[in-house]
Amino acid sequence: MADYILVLDEGTTSTRAMLFASDGVLAASAQKELTQHYPQSGWVEHDAAEIWDKTLACANEVIPKAGGAAMIAAIGITNQRETVVAWDKSTGEPLTRAIVWQDRRTEPFCIELRQAGHEAEVQRRTGLLLDPYFSGTKMRWMLDNVPEVRAAADEGTLAFGTVESWLMFKLTGGDHVSDASNASRTLLMELAGEQFDEGLCDLLGVPHAALPRVVDMSGALGETETSLFGRAIPITGLVGDQQAATIGQACLAPGETKATYGTGAFVLTNQGSTIPRSENRLLGTVLTQIGGERTYAIEGSVFVAGSLVQWLRDSLGIVDVASQTEELAKSIPDCGGVTIVPALSGLGAPHWRAEARGVITGLSFASGKAELARAALEAMAHQTYDLAQAFAADGTAWGTLRIDGGMAANDWMAQDLADMLGLPVERPDFIETTALGAAMLAAAGAGLYPDLDSAAQTMRGKLARFEPNMEADVREDRLTRWRKALAAA
Ligand code: ADP
Repeated sequence: MADYILVLDEGTTSTRAMLFASDGVLAASAQKELTQHYPQSGWVEHDAAEIWDKTLACANEVIPKAGGAAMIAAIGITNQRETVVAWDKSTGEPLTRAIVWQDRRTEPFCIELRQAGHEAEVQRRTGLLLDPYFSGTKMRWMLDNVPEVRAAADEGTLAFGTVESWLMFKLTGGDHVSDASNASRTLLMELAGEQFDEGLCDLLGVPHAALPRVVDMSGALGETETSLFGRAIPITGLVGDQQAATIGQACLAPGETKATYGTGAFVLTNQGSTIPRSENRLLGTVLTQIGGERTYAIEGSVFVAGSLVQWLRDSLGIVDVASQTEELAKSIPDCGGVTIVPALSGLGAPHWRAEARGVITGLSFASGKAELARAALEAMAHQTYDLAQAFAADGTAWGTLRIDGGMAANDWMAQDLADMLGLPVERPDFIETTALGAAMLAAAGAGLYPDLDSAAQTMRGKLARFEPNMEADVREDRLTRWRKALAAA
C-alpha cells in the first residue's frame, strides 16, 4: 500500500529527501550540500538550478528504498524561508542567483522605507518589520539590478517565488503557487489577506503579476509530472521551516511554544485564529492554512545561538567539538561571574539592535575554558528569558517550552533553560521536527489521517522532560549579571 511520505527538506546549507512511514518513523534519507555564494560582504546567494538538481537527485536516491514511486502516498516540502528565486515562466530557468534570507543588501531600501514612515503600517498589515530579512525588498533589488529580471517583468514572463514555490513549479511542470506560511514572510501579503496585496506590492515596487497564487499548506496542492518519478505523486504539504518545526512539535493549540536552537534560535508560539499584534517588536506570521482557515503564530528570533559555540570551537579553540561544552559546564558549580552577551552579529528580538556587538564581562584570573563554555550556554537561557518576557508582555505567556535543533542535544542547556524560565522543557527523541512537521501536513493532506491533530498525535515521538529546579535567588543573580552585561553590548 502506498503509505510512505516523502519530505523534501530544503535547508540553507543542504537539501535532503526523507522518507517517513505513516506513523512518523524515519525510513531513509539522502542529503546533498548546497554551494553558498558570497559575492560581497553581507551578500548570500544560492543557485536555484542546483537546488532543483540536488532535490531531484536526493528524491531519486530514497524513492527506491520505499519500493518505488507507487509506494509513496504523498510529498511534503519544507524550506528555508524568505529566500527569493526569480525565473522565466516560459523557459522554467532561473534568471539570476537566488538571494538568501541572510542577505543584508537591501538595508538601504529598508531604511528609506522606514524614514518615509511606512514601518508602523507595514507591521500592522503584515506582522513583519522593514528588515532586509524578508523577501519583498529582495525582489525589488533584482528588478532594479538584474536586467534579465526587469526584461522578463516587461515581457510578462517573470515568476518570483520562495524555494517551495520554485520546487512546485519544477515538480508540477508549471504551477506557480506559494503556501500561506511562506507568503507571510514576504511583506507583500496581509496577515488577514488571502492573496498578495496590490497596495503592498506598489509600496515595494514588485509587480503583482510576477507573484504566485497563495494556497493552503495541506491538501491536494499539486501532482508531480509523471516523467519525473514514473507516476504522478500528489504533493499535499507545503510549509516554511520554522512553522514546520512548530507543527512537528505538535504546538497546535494556542499558547503552545517551540524553540529551535540551531545556528540562531527561533521561538514560535501558537496564537490560534487571532491575528497577532505585537507591541514588543515580535513578528506575526501564518502558522497553518488548511481549507482556507488560518492559525497564526508570534515569532521571536535570536541571531546567535549555536554559532556562539562554533565561535568557541573555531576561533578560540576552547572545545574541539560543540558537545564538549556540556562536560565543561558540568565541571564547575558556576561560571565565577563570567557573562557573555552573544551579540556577535547584533541583537535580534526583542532588542533589535543591529549595531550591538558581543561582550564578555566578569573575567578574572580564575576564568578558564569551563567558565567561558558555561557562560556561552547560560547565554541561551538568558536570551530566551528576554523573549519569554516580551511574549508575556504581548499577552502570550508560555506553558512549557518544546525545544529542538542541534544545540538542544545539550542536556545541561536544556536543564538550564527549564531552571531560568521556571518552566518544564520538553525535547523529542526524534529531533528532526522540521521534516516531521512537513510529513504531518502531507499525511493529513493525503487523507492518511482525518486531520492535522490526529496526524501529529500519532506521528510525534517520545519526549524527554526537564523540570525547573533552581533557587529564586540564584536565578535573580544570573539575571542581574545578564542585564548589566547587556547594557554594555
Ligand atoms: P542549523 O540547522 O542552523 O544549521 P543545527 O540545528 O544543525 O543548525 O545545529 C548546529 C549548531 O548547534 C551548531 O552551531 C553547533 O555549534 C551547535 N551544537 C550542536 N551540538 C551541540 C551541543 N551538544 N552543545 C552545544 N551546541 C551544539
